[in-house]
Amino acid sequence: MTRPSFKRILLKLSGEVLMGEGAFGIDPATVDRIAGEVAAAKQAGFELCMVVGGGNIFRGLAAAAKGFDRTSADYMGMLATVMNALAVQNALERMGIETRVQSAIPMETVCEPYIRRRAVRHMEKGRIVIFAAGTGNPFFTTDTAAALRAAEMGCDALFKGTSVDGVYDADPKTNAQAKRYESVTFDRVLNDNLKVMDASAVALCRENAIPIIVFNIRETGNLTRVLGGDGIATTVGP
Ligand code: UDP
Repeated sequence: MTRPSFKRILLKLSGEVLMGEGAFGIDPATVDRIAGEVAAAKQAGFELCMVVGGGNIFRGLAAAAKGFDRTSADYMGMLATVMNALAVQNALERMGIETRVQSAIPMETVCEPYIRRRAVRHMEKGRIVIFAAGTGNPFFTTDTAAALRAAEMGCDALFKGTSVDGVYDADPKTNAQAKRYESVTFDRVLNDNLKVMDASAVALCRENAIPIIVFNIRETGNLTRVLGGDGIATTVGP
């Protein structure tokens, strides 16, 4: 199936895709590989902004389950996303791509604070804006941050690069009969509680008519294929 092509897109990267084959942290070779694909997308004419997760370093919910105070743990998770954003920025800039990191938690000596109008201006100038620190609020996820920033930036679509090749009707890891959807509606995702993004992120995309394209970014070359309208993925839409 050929998907419609989009001009301005938000790319959401789960933190875990930056681990490469490791079980934790940032694998520089993997970051370089993904940055190379992002750079190719930029050169192909896409206007890009990004949200990077932090699950490869710290997840608030998991830490809270082991006794951490949830709010502090979530702030630690948000700080983890800043480290990932700087890693992606560094890799892109070594490839000659101009970028800006904007953090929802202001830390002026490290990066810019999130200012929507400034972010729009950066994109108009051809820079890739990487949004860090999620929404800046505990009890949220970077999926919701991605949906929020996609809406704020007027993106045509949200591409979610993750470790699975789309949305399934059951967990493909435990159910051999699980079938991947080529496309699925927002309503079905929410009603059937399908694992795409958390419900607040899906609802925000539904409200703003922003399609979500879920694909496996661990597979080399897949970002280019999926952005080009082919490649294996699931489109979540109205
Ligand atoms: N987080 C948060 N508010 C946000 C975004 C993220 O508190 O708006 C925290 C939360 O603890 C989360 C962690 O940051 O577990 C890392 O983000 P996420 O789990 O979304 O990363 P991903 O799964 O995409 O790697």
